[in-house]
Amino acid sequence: MPISPLAGEVRHLLETLGVNGGDLRGDRVVRSPIDGREIARVGDAGRAEAAEAIGRAAAAFPAWRAVPAPRRGELVRRFGETLRVHKESLGRLVTIENGKILQEGLGEVQEMIDICDFAVGLSRQLYGLTIASERPGHRMMETWHPLGVCGIVTAFNFPVAVWAWNAALALVCGNTPVWKPSEKTPLTALATQALFRRTVEAFDPALAEIAQLVLGDAAASAALVDDPRVPLLSATGSTRMGRAVAPKLAARFARAILELGGNNAAIVAPSADPELALRGITFAAVGTAGQRCTTLRRLFVHDDIYAAFVPRLAAVYGKLRIGDPREPGTLVGPLIDGAAYEGMRKALDQAARDGGTIAGGQRVLSNEWPDAFYVQPALVEMPAQTEIVTRETFAPILYVMRYRALDDAIRLHNAVPQGLSSSIFTGDMREAETFVSAEGSDCGIANVNIGPSGAEIGGAFGGEKETGGGRESGSDAWKAYMRRATNTINYSKALPLAQGIRFEV
Ligand code: NAD
Repeated sequence: MPISPLAGEVRHLLETLGVNGGDLRGDRVVRSPIDGREIARVGDAGRAEAAEAIGRAAAAFPAWRAVPAPRRGELVRRFGETLRVHKESLGRLVTIENGKILQEGLGEVQEMIDICDFAVGLSRQLYGLTIASERPGHRMMETWHPLGVCGIVTAFNFPVAVWAWNAALALVCGNTPVWKPSEKTPLTALATQALFRRTVEAFDPALAEIAQLVLGDAAASAALVDDPRVPLLSATGSTRMGRAVAPKLAARFARAILELGGNNAAIVAPSADPELALRGITFAAVGTAGQRCTTLRRLFVHDDIYAAFVPRLAAVYGKLRIGDPREPGTLVGPLIDGAAYEGMRKALDQAARDGGTIAGGQRVLSNEWPDAFYVQPALVEMPAQTEIVTRETFAPILYVMRYRALDDAIRLHNAVPQGLSSSIFTGDMREAETFVSAEGSDCGIANVNIGPSGAEIGGAFGGEKETGGGRESGSDAWKAYMRRATNTINYSKALPLAQGIRFEV
């Protein structure tokens, strides 16, 4: 296969971002989904190399743990500054390597900057509780301590932001992260690691090894999954991956943050603002070419507005600009690869067999880019929520169904194995409150009058059921990256026992 004309620009971007030419040798071919051609090569870490990286992180841990948390925050603050300087270059590299439109590539780097800011504040707020003791002259408290080496396995669709969500928190909490990125996006990982390395060396060269990178596929993750020196693994990817790693982590009592597949839905009620709903639904369903964990995949539209609303949505779909994600005005870039296209085609074939009416879904631009996979996002009107609708197909397919009573819509909404994100579009306060109540959406994220995708970093991010149950990013997600100690301090001269037990010696 010929080398991509993008390879020159990629080399230049990698140089600008500080990637060492020596890291760009090896047998793994990296392709840009923009044209499907080779943009670089990298080497996979073998098991021994991955173990060495874990060893370096473990060796760096005691010194990093001893740095006061606000000072750890200062390093993360400086890393955020480095990212600000390099936002354009890194955002562009995300677009070339992953295929998301430039606005989203830049947004992904902005998300890294935002989580750094969040983590800086957090570094002065790793609070524990003080608890009333039942014994006189005693005080109880909780203290939070770093865990050690934190493994981070990430997916191709957020090649750098998900690492940042985890690493910024792990670092201010005093841990040393080891990152295994997706084998489909190693270049943005190398660039991010180079920017971090440069920042940490300027901060304190003695701390240079606190963050490690291990390239490779599932075999490289295995080192992190199995190594007893890794007390926490945060793994983002498919439910299939989660099913493989979770039992192994459980077997060695390691902690797991699992951020797995989603199959997100929205309900459009009769009182919904149609303009707002159309925009929210379209961004959530076709943004990132349907390759977000929070992508909108199922839509329940009320009977009374179905006939007016769905044709309007189809009209918006008809106007979507599909093409080169670097071009301003493009809204839908390519799928990551041919396997993703094949998955989409098979799902649509099944939907058709189930009685679905399909608009779109075909491959486009194959003359210009025969090795790339651009598709017209598919809108599929389904007679029912059949088995294919309950699966996550990682492509822009939106299944549309009717509902009559909100209870039925919520029941169908929850009747899938995944539980990541969800929305209701309504002007009715009772419906909105019901949807976010315990009787409503069973997802980790439940929104009103915005789509299910595009979460802010301030909230805890994650989902229920087969989405894995993890939480990362904002709120109190930091607690997963620390161990809690309960301390009882006796400042009296007596030794009363709890529960009034008498034990005289
Ligand atoms: P994937 O599961 O193929 O790969 C994800 C990562 O896991 C990669 O680094 C891969 O090398 C590694 N991996 C794969 N199999 C493994 C195994 N058996 N053992 C150890 N590591 C393994 O997923 P993908 O195609 O890169 O990403 C798409 C999937 O990720 C979708 O299902 C999407 O919903 C999910 N995702 C979830 C979230 C979330 O926060 N819930 C965020 C992004 C993506």
